[in-house]
Amino acid sequence: MSPMPILIPFDNSYVKLPDYFYQRQPPQAVKQPELIQFNTELAATLGFNPEQLAQLGSQTGVEIFAGNQVPAGAEPIAMAYSGHQFGHFSPSLGDGRAVQLGEMLSTTGERFDIQLKGAGRTPWSRGGDGRAALGPVLREYILCEFMHRIGIPTTRALAAVTTGESVLRERPLPGAVLTRLATSYVRVGTFQFFAARGQQQAVQELADYTLRRNYPELSTHEQPYLALLAAVSARQAKLVAQWMQIGFIHGVMNTDNMSIAGETIDYGPCAFMDGFRADRVYSSIDRQGRYAYQNQPSIAQWNLCRFAETLLPLLGDDEDASVAQVQAVINAFPEQYAAAWLEGMRAKLGLAHPQDDDRVLAQDLLELMAQQEADFTLTFRGLAELSISADAAEQRWLSLFNEPATAQLWLVRWRQRLQLETTDAAARQAAMLAVNPLYIPRNHQVEACIRAAEDAGDFSVFAQLLATLKAPFTVQRDKEHYAQPPSAEQIVHQTFCGT
Ligand code: AMP
Ligand code: MG
Repeated sequence: MSPMPILIPFDNSYVKLPDYFYQRQPPQAVKQPELIQFNTELAATLGFNPEQLAQLGSQTGVEIFAGNQVPAGAEPIAMAYSGHQFGHFSPSLGDGRAVQLGEMLSTTGERFDIQLKGAGRTPWSRGGDGRAALGPVLREYILCEFMHRIGIPTTRALAAVTTGESVLRERPLPGAVLTRLATSYVRVGTFQFFAARGQQQAVQELADYTLRRNYPELSTHEQPYLALLAAVSARQAKLVAQWMQIGFIHGVMNTDNMSIAGETIDYGPCAFMDGFRADRVYSSIDRQGRYAYQNQPSIAQWNLCRFAETLLPLLGDDEDASVAQVQAVINAFPEQYAAAWLEGMRAKLGLAHPQDDDRVLAQDLLELMAQQEADFTLTFRGLAELSISADAAEQRWLSLFNEPATAQLWLVRWRQRLQLETTDAAARQAAMLAVNPLYIPRNHQVEACIRAAEDAGDFSVFAQLLATLKAPFTVQRDKEHYAQPPSAEQIVHQTFCGT
């Protein structure tokens, strides 16, 4: 007897847009799919009941997550988009290795796009095979779920499966498919696709769609498109500030990889820093360091300019006036970013009552870290662990720096600054421990997951890291090694997008 089909409550809105927004494209079946991971917790929050959860976690779910079964109600598509890749415009990108099954509404009323990444060729695949290798699938799963845990807007991972097929990169690699969710996969590049073709009507339809879906509070605004630009800009300012505060380097901030909904999307060669350096770059293809850590805020602003250009024709007939309005929004970005950054840094440093010099104090710490190659994560975590008086935690913290005596000077300043706080020390420490994670997906640990999975079909390393990162702020027994920076041999110097 075949099992009952799973009822996924699809409610597809993007396919109701005119057909130039997408191409209908079913996922292509794979040889022998097997489950790597099903995100039961996420599925439960979407509203699936225990019986459905059991089904989704079984072979029935695997068939769906692999693209071998298209569930009832799905209307699979590949979305059209363009993008500036490393500053150069590519008019036709689109979903070349992702198929969107449809959208579902969670029981809390949130709408999610459900995508299968690595679901086979689409009309946008160009020379590519439309497939995903296991490594990038595991990497995205770990990183996006971690981002979610620490409160950074992100797409989510619902499931990962192996395909039983290999994909050819520099060498044959095991294939996999990632089922991922976004509150919208519309990108800056989606707007550019139509703007570049002079399809002003389509740009407006897309803007209206986005307003309805992701910014409903702006629908009645007297200048909704300008308000949309401002709102997208505000979300990006906050998002990038959050990235910076966790030592995250996205790695490919092309306009096709910037979400209009303000989530972290397209985890390619992204990485978290161990030792801090402002000019850190991991991506093997980023030879000029365009997407280096410190460039992320200005690149976000550059991308927002490209978004703004697509909206200009919608703003009215007086072009000069429209340009001035848009310019004002774009010009506000650095200040918005700086404010978001400062707010986050104050929290990291335990400063609840703002003072004028807080920015300098925070910047000086980063400078010190950079000069002395201090570990990004452990520096902030260690600060949270420090009690008010000198003790073992202080020695540990100082030992993160090459020249402890210099670091000590900063510590003295920080302690003086804390005198101006009225929050008691225990409450401050608790607050700091809740924003400075102990565990992050360190590159060498992510690499170890991929090695075990690729080389030996062993997913336990992946499962253990994933489980640890579910509680990144909580000290966990026998997990000390996940908190440690890499040894010299373990350091990962480069990451690859694996396309
Ligand atoms: P990304 O580097 O993920 O931002 O992808 C840039 C573009 O290349 C997008 O249009 C992708 O859909 C496409 N692409 C990346 N990898 C593949 C692949 N293996 N097969 C087909 N298209 C791909
Ligand atoms: Mg992309």
